Amino acid sequence: MTPGRSKLPDVGTTIFTVVSRRSGELGALNLGQGFPDYDIDPRLAELVGQAMREGHNQYAPMEGLIELREGIARKLALSYGLSVDPHCEITVTLGATEAIYCGIQALAGPGDEAIVFDPAYDSYEPAVRLAGARCVRLPLMPPQFRYDWDRVRAAINAHTRLILFNSPHNPACTTAMAGDLDELAAAIRGRDIVVLSDEVYEHMVFDGRAHASVLTQPELRERSMAVFSFGKTLHATGLRVGYSVAPAPLSAELRKVHQFNTFSIANPLQRAIAAYLAERPQTGRDLPGFFQAKRDRLRSRLAHCGFSLPPAQGTFFQLLDFGELCPPGDVAFAERTLTEAKVATIPLSPFYAEPPELSVVRLCIAKRDDTLDRAAERLAQLAQRLGRA
Ligand code: GLN
Repeated sequence: MTPGRSKLPDVGTTIFTVVSRRSGELGALNLGQGFPDYDIDPRLAELVGQAMREGHNQYAPMEGLIELREGIARKLALSYGLSVDPHCEITVTLGATEAIYCGIQALAGPGDEAIVFDPAYDSYEPAVRLAGARCVRLPLMPPQFRYDWDRVRAAINAHTRLILFNSPHNPACTTAMAGDLDELAAAIRGRDIVVLSDEVYEHMVFDGRAHASVLTQPELRERSMAVFSFGKTLHATGLRVGYSVAPAPLSAELRKVHQFNTFSIANPLQRAIAAYLAERPQTGRDLPGFFQAKRDRLRSRLAHCGFSLPPAQGTFFQLLDFGELCPPGDVAFAERTLTEAKVATIPLSPFYAEPPELSVVRLCIAKRDDTLDRAAERLAQLAQRLGRA
């Protein structure tokens, strides 16, 4: 049976799913989709088992377990000095993706525009379109991928309802600076615009940088929904537990959609994460060092083979620049790393409405050291072949 009429006729399966599937078929090292290949903290696994044995197996409250929301509020206080009301400002969601999806459905509708910055994470535009709204896509240009605030101001008009912000930025691997937040606040001042800020890589910022959360900018704090991810912070992307932080009126709107989408999130997982945060209030603090060491390991192993690797400012990814070795064309190059080097990578073109010429692909650094070493060896061999060609 054909559905007759598709609401997303041009949307296929996501690049992450396609690349992971092909990587598996080819027996490649998967540095494509962003997920760790090492073990989680066994204490977290124990706490999940314990929660189930203790009988926490029925519906959790729609907005999230209060113990977990209190833990999140303490974490936000510790990380950013913020005071957030766990009762009406925090909502637990099925990963950050659900928070983003529900936030968009709750806030945007026909006639509205949402500004997104390309390369934009793949879930943003379909969510905006399913809400009946339209995306205005502003490119961040390589190699720096910085914001052009004149262009942002020029794009804002009476229809603008949302700005989808993302820092640390996936897939550009950049981080916003405090000055960017001030520009963003000034650009929307006096207008009925909400910032939906994807901050899932909040703890993966490198070289001594601090994460510039929209929640720390006083004007943005009043009109932003920031979304976070325990999957990233606890090295367990399969948990699918995330959360949104937004002023009470925005959180109330989010919850109206969330309650009819996933209703509530796995009870034993929420119990376990709440207990884990209570035992380890500093959760996330070691992550910059942990991931920076992985980034630098990969960079040093690929230092002299012809690729260049401009140090990622944040996220658990690192860009590989192949511009010295072959002509631009990131999709074709990603195909070569997969089929010739047996290393799965992610091109950036699919994240642009109108891709510029690109000579970079994204590598995931959230991998065991030996996985990174083996991938670097294979990529270095590819570089050697390209250099001779
Ligand atoms: N966030 C992951 C990445 O950027 C992808 C998650 C997914 O496959 N939906 O690689």
